[in-house]
Amino acid sequence: MEFDLISRIRDRAPRRVDVVLGIGDDAALLQVPSGMQLVVAMDTLNAGVHFPAAAAPADIGWKALAVNLSDLAAMGAQPAWCTLSLSLPEAASAFVDGFLDGFLELAARHDVSLVGGDTTRGPLSICVAVHGLVEPGRALRRAGAGVGDDVWVTGTPGDAAAALAALQAGAAVDRALRARLDRPTPRVAAGRALAGIASACIDVSDGLLADLGHVCAASGTGACIELEALPVSKALTRFRPELRWPWQATGGDDYELCFTAPAAQREAVATALAATGEIGATRIGRIETSTGVRARSPDGTPWTPAMPGYRHF
Ligand code: ADP
Ligand code: MG
Repeated sequence: MEFDLISRIRDRAPRRVDVVLGIGDDAALLQVPSGMQLVVAMDTLNAGVHFPAAAAPADIGWKALAVNLSDLAAMGAQPAWCTLSLSLPEAASAFVDGFLDGFLELAARHDVSLVGGDTTRGPLSICVAVHGLVEPGRALRRAGAGVGDDVWVTGTPGDAAAALAALQAGAAVDRALRARLDRPTPRVAAGRALAGIASACIDVSDGLLADLGHVCAASGTGACIELEALPVSKALTRFRPELRWPWQATGGDDYELCFTAPAAQREAVATALAATGEIGATRIGRIETSTGVRARSPDGTPWTPAMPGYRHF
């Protein structure tokens, strides 16, 4: 069964010219371009935690790769290759076929080759590793935010959290919101464009305030966010505008980029992002000396979320 599944995967996996040896040997052999740094990230998705157990296999496949590409985007890296470890309760070839539909659709969009992996029997769990490339010195890190820097976010945070809350409440979910939860868009082009411009960057997986907190901790700074400045989607505004801020500030799963840049780079940020045609970004706050992340209501008073970002433990 295992070998049948592996050959199903191999037969569909695309292959870049820099894949010297792909699926089928003991390991893959990849040609790293000279003068580039290799960027490596890995993320695991467990049924019931990272996706509903009943989620469509194609959506699970998409998301498994998307969350990984999002990590490369947050580093300013160009994705190149990935590996896939599948733990499956049974030899579910229908599941694997559906999974690959979503996984390989996203892989094709970013010219990412699936070059290997592992297939075992066990509780449904998916582990993906991605490998990307970045010019030396240009990678975006969490450390690097300077006091006085602007804080930016791409896209419209909060949509995925709204969709998840609706699903959990058994309420009808707007299709646009649902798509942002099931098929997040890794901001790869934006990350590439910001490399060399942004001072620090992170992708928003656990919640804007929580993830910005990681940037601040790594940078030895704090930050203040203006809630009023948070860009909001039409779909979220239509759905439950009164819950906008908790979802936008603390909801996870958006996979937008939160980054910082000196005020002198405002033009450069806007121009670089516009050139990608992918997504714009909005200034939402400022890096400050005093540690921790604060959020301010439109009337200027401090705003405290009822729940901080998602924690696994
Ligand atoms: P080994 O015992 O050497 O680990 P495997 O039987 O696990 O060999 O894998 C054989 C080949 O198939 C290897 O090239 C491996 O990378 C690839 N492979 C196994 N599972 C997957 C998967 N889920 N996705 C992609 N490639 C896989
Ligand atoms: Mg193996």
